Amino acid sequence: MDILSVIETKKRGLPLSREQIRYFARGAADGSIPDYQLAALLMAIRLQGMDPRETADLTMEMAQSGNMLEPDVDGVPVDKHSTGGVGDTTTLILAPLVAACGGKVLKMSGRGLGHTGGTVDKLESIKGMKVELPEDEFVSIVRRIGCCVVGQSAHLAPADKRLYALRDVTGTVDSVPLIASSILSKKFAAGARAIVLDVKTGSGALMPTLESSIELAKTMADIGALAGRQITAVVSGMDEPLGSHVGNALEVKEAVDVLAGRVHGPLKDVSIFLGAQMLLASQICHTEEEAKARLQEALENGRGLKKLQEMIEAQGGDGSICENVSLLPQAPCIVPLLAQEEGYLARVNGVALGLAAQQMGAGRARKEDVIDPAVGFVMEKRIGDFIRKGDVICTLHAKDLASAQQAGEKILAALAFSPVPVPRAQLLYALVTPQGVSYL
Ligand code: URA
Ligand code: CA
Repeated sequence: MDILSVIETKKRGLPLSREQIRYFARGAADGSIPDYQLAALLMAIRLQGMDPRETADLTMEMAQSGNMLEPDVDGVPVDKHSTGGVGDTTTLILAPLVAACGGKVLKMSGRGLGHTGGTVDKLESIKGMKVELPEDEFVSIVRRIGCCVVGQSAHLAPADKRLYALRDVTGTVDSVPLIASSILSKKFAAGARAIVLDVKTGSGALMPTLESSIELAKTMADIGALAGRQITAVVSGMDEPLGSHVGNALEVKEAVDVLAGRVHGPLKDVSIFLGAQMLLASQICHTEEEAKARLQEALENGRGLKKLQEMIEAQGGDGSICENVSLLPQAPCIVPLLAQEEGYLARVNGVALGLAAQQMGAGRARKEDVIDPAVGFVMEKRIGDFIRKGDVICTLHAKDLASAQQAGEKILAALAFSPVPVPRAQLLYALVTPQGVSYL
């Protein structure tokens, strides 16, 4: 086999064989194929596409390009993955809730990327918390407690690691088969047998339109069917931050507040919906109503919060933040941001809000940047709210007044107002399985 014939095949729009895909994935992982030939093939795939069989083959070959974990967690290992959002803390709510209902949540999470936050960075705002654990240790925590959230191991899916870095600089990120195989190869390698995908749509999402988000969701559900893993994809809205808190310690606080029953609203509702899909995919529950009722009960009786505390302590962290959120890092400068105009909040630029938080120190502009866990902001208004001049739109948690002022200007510029009433942003759009798409 030679790489030129693989490039020629895809250039002419023909399907690649499993052997051709294996040759390409292994050559990406072991470095035997140079960047320029990989880049040419990626662009041919971006322009010509891949059929479902090729996409499933690429997923499996990328997964098998490194270690394949087969964790014995005493149940079905279930994972949940979001394609990326702002103020999107569902993992810290649903991992302990699903565990409290008997699920075995083995969650590999990423760090923040661009304007989106990462669960691993959020967890590191808890004193002592370890997110890089050896495999036997996190498997033993999942067996004992039911959930563990750790960073992505570098040994998993090395072909994806190389291809993802190349896609980022060759205009080949926005390809449904390349995104689907990239996400799922890492989940398969980590040993997940049941996977719930939260595919975001709206301002600040990976796929720009509802149609393309549903296409991505359908592609991933179909790969699951071909690969013998249970995959459910939910298409959910990212037209504004899901929770009100944006920033690492602030998002941990909000997750604790939801689990303690102090905060209700979209973040809680979407967490329960996704958690229910996880219980169904793990075959612990058999109807959505039963799954939601069990999660709601684990929330109300405090067992979900207790699980989060147990998980934090098992990972070396200070679990007392679950009893007293004021023990989390606090920013020195907390100031309100006041509205300068009147009207209904109509649109929120999610990317701009995420970047405002990043510039305050909550995220990285470069890989080597150090995160300030305490900074960020709390949105006090949502799309559809009527706002008067001088109302508090947002509370800024900054390292100093200059940083608060800078962020405040960016946040105000990210909001658009309407003189006439505006409907609330839609939270859930569709549920996608290999059997089909149901609109919500
Ligand atoms: N996340 C991934 O892991 N891969 C992609 O291609 C896009 C998002
Ligand atoms: Ca996330």
